[in-house]
Amino acid sequence: MSSQALPEDLVELERPALEAALEARGHRGFHARQIFGWVYRIGVTDVSSMTDLSRELRALLAAEFAIRTPAIVQRDKSVDGTEKFLLKLVDGRTVESVFIPDTPSMTFCISTQVGCAMACAFCLTGRMGLVRNLTAGEIVGQVRVLADALHMRDVHFNIVLMGMGEPLHNYDATMKALRILADEHGFNMSPRRITLSTVGILPALEKLAREPIMPNLAISLHAPTDAQRGDLVPLNRKYGVNDIIAVCKRFPLKRRHRITFEYVLLAGVNDRPEDARRLAKLLAGVKSKVNLIPLNAAPGIPFERPSDDAIDRFARVLADHDLVVSVRKSRGRDIRAACGQLIVESERKSAAQQLAVMM
Ligand code: SF4
Repeated sequence: MSSQALPEDLVELERPALEAALEARGHRGFHARQIFGWVYRIGVTDVSSMTDLSRELRALLAAEFAIRTPAIVQRDKSVDGTEKFLLKLVDGRTVESVFIPDTPSMTFCISTQVGCAMACAFCLTGRMGLVRNLTAGEIVGQVRVLADALHMRDVHFNIVLMGMGEPLHNYDATMKALRILADEHGFNMSPRRITLSTVGILPALEKLAREPIMPNLAISLHAPTDAQRGDLVPLNRKYGVNDIIAVCKRFPLKRRHRITFEYVLLAGVNDRPEDARRLAKLLAGVKSKVNLIPLNAAPGIPFERPSDDAIDRFARVLADHDLVVSVRKSRGRDIRAACGQLIVESERKSAAQQLAVMM
């Protein structure tokens, strides 16, 4: 095996770092803007195509840097237009990313980890355990790959960090990815088009509240009491419902913005009218909207989807308490791309063991 170090990955660098890297090699830092334009706006993965850079600079980039890009190994399209991509990373690990065509705009659902350590009881990804964190370049790499594969470089789309993994459990890489996505010379994504979904790792949530780049926030709540939530989201034993709500009340929100509370509805578990009333009481005073997600039942998940009547009844109780409520339409169930259904069979590990380390 060669002892030579791998070339530096250009897509792991934020623009100021790329400027510094160029300057350290005797080139002008402003070329970083051109390189960002080529990589993120145009979708180039080979420096030889960067025709407005000098031949000398292209030679240096080719010799010293790589542009590592996830490879599509499988692409499945649902009857409803949802597409699931299985992407292979440089070390052979795989993650899933999903394109949802009309929610109401186009949305990329992106992963932040291979697997997930959170072990939520209704989630197939949680069964895998955490295999490893993604790097910032790999998180943004999913966006680059989907934008190319779907011919969407010039189309506005939203990003939800709701694929595999808990984004705040991979905090630094996730924030770096958001900064790269927001760079005005690259994708130039408004943070308002990005939603970060978390089960509520409170120290990380407090840190997020102080970030200059602030995505929309979605809290995976799923139950109104600690007793119920502790069974569904094991991390609740460390960070309880009332603590999460207290942090949400302090979270800096722009005018007219709300925190989304996601609530997976499980038949006979958390879908009763009294659960809805408790939820309404809990969210009183929070600038919130509630997104109800009727369970996507799957083999190995020990819960059932509630009846349509139960879903309606639950939503009506919340609406009667003046909460903004929506019911998520299930997408891509036939290709197992729906919420909580992303899993890469070959990556399974013990989730319980890993979660124990965090608690
Ligand atoms: S629901 Fe989200 S946080 Fe929970 S196990 Fe699944 S991927 Fe992880």
